[in-house]
Amino acid sequence: MGKANVNMICDIAELSSLFEKSSSLDDFLQSAVSVVAYHMQAAVCSIYIYDDKERMLTLRATQGLSPFAVGKVQLRLGQGLTGLALKELRAIREGRGSQSPRFQPVKGINEERYEAFLAVPIRRGLTRVGVLTVQDTQPDYFDEKDEQALKAIAAQLATVIENANLLLTLRRQDEPAKKTDTRAAPKMIKGRPASGGVAQGRTTVLISGHGGSFQLPDGFPQNLTVHDFDRALQQTEQQLKDLQRRADEELSDVAQLIFSAHLLILADDEFSGEIRRRIEAGAPPAEALVTLVNTYIEIFSTSPNLRLQEKVHDLKDLGHRMLENLAGGDRESGDYSGQIIVADMLLPSDILKLSTENAEGFIVQGGVTSHNAIICRSLQKPMVMIDPQQLELLCQSCDLLMDGDQGAIFIQPTEEVLKEYAEYRSAAAELEAAPPVKTETYTADGTRVQLFANINLLSDLKMALSFRAEGIGLYRSEFPFIIRNAFPSEEEQYQVYSRIVETMGGREVTFRTLDIGGDKVLSYQNEIEEANPFLGLRAIRFSLLHKDIFSEQLRAFLRAGVNGNTRIMFPLISSLDEFIEARDVVHDCMKELEARGVPYSRDTKIGIMVELPSAVELIEDLAHEADFMSIGTNDLIQYMLAVDRTNEMVSKLYLSHHPAILRAIERVALVANSHRKDVSICGDIAMDPKMIPFLLGAGITKLSLPPRRVYEIQRAIEQVSMEKAVYTARRMLACSRISEVESLL
Ligand code: PEP
Ligand code: MG
Repeated sequence: MGKANVNMICDIAELSSLFEKSSSLDDFLQSAVSVVAYHMQAAVCSIYIYDDKERMLTLRATQGLSPFAVGKVQLRLGQGLTGLALKELRAIREGRGSQSPRFQPVKGINEERYEAFLAVPIRRGLTRVGVLTVQDTQPDYFDEKDEQALKAIAAQLATVIENANLLLTLRRQDEPAKKTDTRAAPKMIKGRPASGGVAQGRTTVLISGHGGSFQLPDGFPQNLTVHDFDRALQQTEQQLKDLQRRADEELSDVAQLIFSAHLLILADDEFSGEIRRRIEAGAPPAEALVTLVNTYIEIFSTSPNLRLQEKVHDLKDLGHRMLENLAGGDRESGDYSGQIIVADMLLPSDILKLSTENAEGFIVQGGVTSHNAIICRSLQKPMVMIDPQQLELLCQSCDLLMDGDQGAIFIQPTEEVLKEYAEYRSAAAELEAAPPVKTETYTADGTRVQLFANINLLSDLKMALSFRAEGIGLYRSEFPFIIRNAFPSEEEQYQVYSRIVETMGGREVTFRTLDIGGDKVLSYQNEIEEANPFLGLRAIRFSLLHKDIFSEQLRAFLRAGVNGNTRIMFPLISSLDEFIEARDVVHDCMKELEARGVPYSRDTKIGIMVELPSAVELIEDLAHEADFMSIGTNDLIQYMLAVDRTNEMVSKLYLSHHPAILRAIERVALVANSHRKDVSICGDIAMDPKMIPFLLGAGITKLSLPPRRVYEIQRAIEQVSMEKAVYTARRMLACSRISEVESLL
């Protein structure tokens, strides 16, 4: 039977009669979705109701999705296609949801299978009531007529829902005993995915500032003495030193003295000494400790000094650790094992500390500051970003399962969800334990393609080796600068860079010079605030303005490269002049090292990142001068299309397959190849299997990507012949319209 929109519109009178028969609003909504799904012959129909106070949509009825999702799936206004339909008060129709960056299927409720998607807002004038959605497995299933029909139903539903809500409110006043606390019910929160992976555990909520004071847990042991306090103090000190040692070993590039604040506070007589004196004067040890921690929190959080304000988490962490030791707990193996950190604000250094203390994952309020997300990815910790309203739904010590790939948070997850994720995790762990990656990569017809790794922290090197990367195509050198409290010295940098060269043992390593600015801000560099940081003092511009810092880094690179095969690459080059100026600084550094008799790598190649439209225009001239070039598509897309890569509102326009981007990539590859200059891609496009045939066909046979993606990309390359790739690239390059490219993809 085909769809019967016209009939259905006539039949929507059914809705009011359905309401007459229903015992509750939920009962009515469930009947309504069944009727709509039936008439539209759609596999799924769902209704979300909007709570204006919390600015949150909740799934209230569904036909087709897992029934356990009802009441649990929540979306913010503007989140996903459903949230967007309500935010912008317009219908949204997607023929192929899987290709839409805004489509965020909720895992665990069977939503991934549906391609065709249509959502219409349910509204009363400008008042937002909810969203009515239909979905189907068949792509492009819904058409213009369906959209009109659904709008008509939504208009009817609005009135009925409003009336029903009114009635229910009246009834509720009559029956106060029946009222249920929806906050206590298990829920699913949909946040924004920031770092992949799945974690399960109990929440530890860390609220910054004096708003989140430190409290003594219920049932804390009484009758403790000053000896217990002394023992706890010693134990705490030992644990912190052990943690610091572990951090030094595993995260030496970024973690230098990350527990120093803890240790300093602990050693301070005004802190530990004062607690001891209060105990000796008769105060119970735990109370004396909590009081003093809160006094310090108050002082730190109200200080005008930002660095002191940032220490509030350290104080709470220290307080928790001391309390546990006081109670005789055993936290030696790591404080936050089995715990998921929920916080209103975290610094990259907090993430590092808590990860060292074995925190399982992070749920943080606010916008995605990309270095937090990148740090989490490198530390292999899942991270989900949420809004303040969603933060309130997460209480202390509640059971959670978080999915960093989907941005989903399950509060008190059901057996069904736990089982599904257990399978998913064991499959992922299996792949990671022994990735079946081959040492060399070839297309189906035997063309050699090189796969390199992008790394951010030294800890990524392990992954690069285990996924058999042929070298490091991009080392983002800014992380030791971002996380520490001050610029690392030349010597410290030299140690870090040497470790990379040694670990890669003769394989090619490309060091990118500092790329700070944009969204990667140094807290200790109090520059004037920029109105447009992405168009401001970023990357090579910062280095050329601060030649002392630049030269220190270059000397450290050159010295580290002495026994290796290293290259130096400048980010965000916009002109030949800029490249030559930067290269001159490298040559000056070489002369200086030569004069001082310090060994360094004399044959270091010097290249550029192609990330700006101006660099594409000047590619012939740059290819003459530079030894190599690597296309940074993350920024190239942002600057060519004028779309902020961190702005969710314009993410639909951020398209790697835009015809202008395809032509720019081909142009750079063509020119580089004709000059016999090494050319690669190190932006995220290199880890998109769909784009592989194009990249190969356009002349790119060297890719650099996050190590974990090497296996998938190797498989994609093996499945395509060069002949087919060239044909595909030609067809894609001939397209004038984005939609034509999309239909080819
Ligand atoms: C890029 O811009 O594509 C790139 C690899 O650099 P980053 O993501 O660090 O800006
Ligand atoms: Mg870039």
